[in-house]
Amino acid sequence: MENCVFCKIMAGEIPSARVYEDGEIVIFRDIEPKAKIHLLCVPREHFALLSEADDARAALLGRTLQKIGALAPQLGLADGYRLIINQGENAGQSVHHLHIHILGGQTLEWE
Ligand code: 5GP
Ligand code: ZN
Repeated sequence: MENCVFCKIMAGEIPSARVYEDGEIVIFRDIEPKAKIHLLCVPREHFALLSEADDARAALLGRTLQKIGALAPQLGLADGYRLIINQGENAGQSVHHLHIHILGGQTLEWE
């Protein structure tokens, strides 16, 4: 997708600190971390919203959550982590390529 910062990162056109990648997802460090560990887990396929998820994308997202769970210890998240998906304007979604924020490495406050 043109002009999508995450598509450009995955294509290697914009540098990023990758911590994991496979054929379906890439995980890299957020450029403006909001916690000691702040990763972005991004499906390689470009779509913006959960409401665009057909069965194949739903299965992809399920596998993605499973992978995050399995990878957590090697990502420094053995003591816990928080997942966030911002959707649309009210949530402040700024990159319109669906992504899962992974926050951890510290105790996380909950408002
Ligand atoms: P959103 O608000 O859309 O859920 O989150 C987008 C996230 O992408 C933000 O936390 C922002 O810091 C991060 N981000 C935006 N541009 C870049 C970039 O070029 N590289 C990296 N690593 N993260 C980015
Ligand atoms: Zn994209």
